[in-house]
Amino acid sequence: MFESGKPPVVENTEENRQICRKYCTICQNYKHHSLEKHQPTELFCGCGTSNATSMKEIGCFCPACPLFMKYHLRGGYYCVRR
Ligand code: SF4
Ligand code: SF4
Repeated sequence: MFESGKPPVVENTEENRQICRKYCTICQNYKHHSLEKHQPTELFCGCGTSNATSMKEIGCFCPACPLFMKYHLRGGYYCVRR
């Protein structure tokens, strides 16, 4: 499926962060849990889950994000789980 046998890793670049901000920062989950106050603040698919605790999973926008398709991601809610 992929040449290396694994899907490509989402790179932590300013360009990718800018794309992420258009989706993550306006989703219900982000706003409800004030994820801007926790690390990492964005690009959860590349940087890992938020250190916010006791999060619910409400209204993830990842499936609409261009990086979701580009990197063959699945599932969403990367701020909550991998
Ligand atoms: S990973 Fe999904 S649920 Fe989490 S902040 Fe981004 S769009 Fe929202
Ligand atoms: S897939 Fe989700 S976490 Fe990753 S860049 Fe897009 S909106 Fe952000």
